[in-house]
Amino acid sequence: PPDVAQLGRSTWTLLHALTASYPTSPSPTTQTSALTFVTTLSQLYPCWHCAGDFRAWMSRPGNAPRVKSRAEFGQWMCEAHNEVNRKLGKDEFDCGKWEERWRTGWKD
Ligand code: FAD
Repeated sequence: PPDVAQLGRSTWTLLHALTASYPTSPSPTTQTSALTFVTTLSQLYPCWHCAGDFRAWMSRPGNAPRVKSRAEFGQWMCEAHNEVNRKLGKDEFDCGKWEERWRTGWKD
């Protein structure tokens, strides 16, 4: 079975990179693709208890994927990741900084 931590780091890299290059104004077709991608991931993610908790979180009010723009999708992905951070006792990430971390690079 895959190493759950390594799998997670790789997957979050893919997911945040995906939101970083998502269009600012996606077409309806692209929005559907994003929804399908996230839904499929939540069904096939190869850590079954992770996938189950992720599906349960997504199905709660307010947690459905938001894919109408890059800003919205990036924010949603950050919230999803923070939910896992909380569950694992890790620090929460400041979602005001997701683009700096994953798209434009830290300015320091
Ligand atoms: P990661 O959490 O992998 O984060 C990588 C980098 O992303 C961080 O160094 C930081 O720079 C950045 N980052 C952190 N938080 C955010 C955020 N909110 N928004 C944007 N960037 C951020 N592991 C389990 O043990 N149990 C689970 O149930 C579980 N469920 C998971 C569900 C999903 C959908 C995914 C993708 C992963 C899951 N994982 C789970 C793996 C877990 O989230 C971590 O990836 C793993 O523990 C390694 O953590 P890490 O500390 O190396 O950093």
